[in-house]
Amino acid sequence: MSDRKLNHSIPILMYHQVTPRPLPVFQKYAVTPKAFAAQMKWLALAGYVAIDLDTLLDHRSGRTSLPSRAVIITFDDGFQDCIEHVVPILHARGFTAIFYLVAGLVGKTSRWLLLERGIELPLMDWTAARRLEATGFQCGSHTMSHPRLVDLSPAACRDELLKSRRLLEDRLGREVRHLAYPFGFFNETVRAMATETGYRSACSVRIGLSPPEDDSLALHRVPVTGQDSLLDFICRLHTARGMGEVLHCKAQGAWRRLRRVGANISS
Ligand SMILES: [Zn+2]
Repeated sequence: MSDRKLNHSIPILMYHQVTPRPLPVFQKYAVTPKAFAAQMKWLALAGYVAIDLDTLLDHRSGRTSLPSRAVIITFDDGFQDCIEHVVPILHARGFTAIFYLVAGLVGKTSRWLLLERGIELPLMDWTAARRLEATGFQCGSHTMSHPRLVDLSPAACRDELLKSRRLLEDRLGREVRHLAYPFGFFNETVRAMATETGYRSACSVRIGLSPPEDDSLALHRVPVTGQDSLLDFICRLHTARGMGEVLHCKAQGAWRRLRRVGANISS
């Protein structure tokens, strides 16, 4: 195994909804099927191989090697649209992915979005989730009801983590070891409870490529938004940021350097 393979950072892509008709209030989190297809085509052309989280964690504990260009594809919330608009595209490319389901709302609607954004979107049911598992995808936990775990009592937080894992395992008939924190919120207590309740990994919304030393219970992710162009997406694969953000940072850096040069000349 080469050093490069041991040391490279991995983009863990974070998607939410994929739909041809994004709602204006949810546009940031809704990618169109056309944009999603173009992004997956780019990954395939660039030689990326989609791996699952166990493969990544096994690699990081020294047990397996990784493809030289590995990517992990994640979907939060378990929106029903993903079944129709995501699965055929991923199958066509031979890419696996993980879908984080809100276990207590499977087959219902995204009630937490009613409070957050005034909308409710349909969530996939157990039949669809079982079909995902049977066709090479994974389902993970996104808790029972999508709360801000940091705001809950320790007992309620434990319930959200443990009950969701048990319910998913019961209904899917397989072990569930991966978690995504709702809204990405966690603290040391929540993180410790995730370990205690049997999770092997947990995704956060800390933005960045996942480095080799990443905390497996607070993994960095790369958000893909509904406003991203294909160039933004390509930029995100390498920097986790869209073109606009990267150029803004570079421009700020250049401006700071110019000011330092100017100060040295005038002093
Ligand atoms: Zn969520």
